Amino acid sequence: IFLPHLVASLEVEQSYIMIKPDGVQRGLVGEIISRFEKKGFKLTGLKLFQCPQELAEEHYKDLQSKPFFPKLIQYITSGPVVCMAWEGVGVVASARKLIGATNPLQAEPGTIRGDLAVQTGRNVIHGSDSPENGKREIGNLCCIL
Ligand code: UDP
Ligand code: MG
Repeated sequence: IFLPHLVASLEVEQSYIMIKPDGVQRGLVGEIISRFEKKGFKLTGLKLFQCPQELAEEHYKDLQSKPFFPKLIQYITSGPVVCMAWEGVGVVASARKLIGATNPLQAEPGTIRGDLAVQTGRNVIHGSDSPENGKREIGNLCCIL
């Protein structure tokens, strides 16, 4: 049986990867970029950016109704972030694996969050959850392409 939603896409995709303010402040930018480079994906856009409130709210609009939403917006706008576009076959799902679980205490060792973070509210990095959102986040939000 062919279950297309269970296999990695064979299409060239783009993922929006964002190093959050804690990752920038803690000096983890080089380490994180290095992991994506070594994996073999192609960096097609990058900028350091102070995210305004409206853009942060747009980026996380699906989480608007969550109790942690105000703190999340505060966190993301608390300092500069590094916005990146990474390209390749299957990059969206692969980046999510490199990043690890949302709660760093549940993220596997070897993943970015598993190795470098302890708190969900300070989990260092964002990665798109679908190719559609990758396109949307890169185009509308970080304006790097
Ligand atoms: N988040 C939080 N508390 C929660 C869940 C999420 O502060 O209980 C934050 C966390 O920074 C997370 C972001 O909201 O990375 C987006 O949540 P999502 O469920 O999309 O997780 P992700 O896709 O980043 O793993
Ligand atoms: Mg998400």
